Amino acid sequence: MKTPCLILVVLSLAVPALADHHEKKPPANSNERARPEVITPGTSSTNAQPGKPPSDAIILFDGKNLANFTHNKSEPAKWKVEHGYAEVNRSGPIQSKQSFGDAQLHIEWATPSEVKGKGQGRGNSGVFLGGYCEVQVLDSFENDTYPGGQASALYSKTPPLINASRKPGVWQSYDIIFHLAKGEHPAHLTVLHNGVVVHHAYPLGKGTQKWNLRLQDHGNPVRYRNIWVRELKDYR
Ligand code: MG
Repeated sequence: MKTPCLILVVLSLAVPALADHHEKKPPANSNERARPEVITPGTSSTNAQPGKPPSDAIILFDGKNLANFTHNKSEPAKWKVEHGYAEVNRSGPIQSKQSFGDAQLHIEWATPSEVKGKGQGRGNSGVFLGGYCEVQVLDSFENDTYPGGQASALYSKTPPLINASRKPGVWQSYDIIFHLAKGEHPAHLTVLHNGVVVHHAYPLGKGTQKWNLRLQDHGNPVRYRNIWVRELKDYR
């Protein structure tokens, strides 16, 4: 009966390793507790100029080029880039090369200042987090449509808590905090539209797969600028 003995030996070696992995942290008010990483926070955007991202952000688009996005797997992104923004031009959606798990996403967008169309035909685009959801981009300033499809709705899942839309042509922002499913907790996200909470810890199922950022081409010349992501680590 050599095999069970071997298993016991392997298990006895593995147990201390597991114990180390789950080592209890010192209490939060103990001086032994690991210090949070020091970063330099960013600055706020104005309508004329995007703010500076925090120092630990992964910059996906800084207004110069779309090198961090693709059109599809083999071709570069084809959206027009000028004056510090990228504009939808009917060449199809674009997607980030990099994928993310638990993360904070900042993105700014503006619908056309010249209003054309109505309802879903007015300034339609979208911020997709992989297959989890679309945070709708739409000109929802005095433009009625079905609530599950207005700006900052989780498209076809739920309307936003409030309508915080700015006027057409004015830069707006989404700040999104996303978590993959972990243990009994589902994947979930929180969204701020122009700094106002429109979704909080909204559950998105049991997914644990990473997501890439996809931006929708719905045929309307919507603009994007200042796109960055911060990967969120566990508490130290
Ligand atoms: Mg859309």
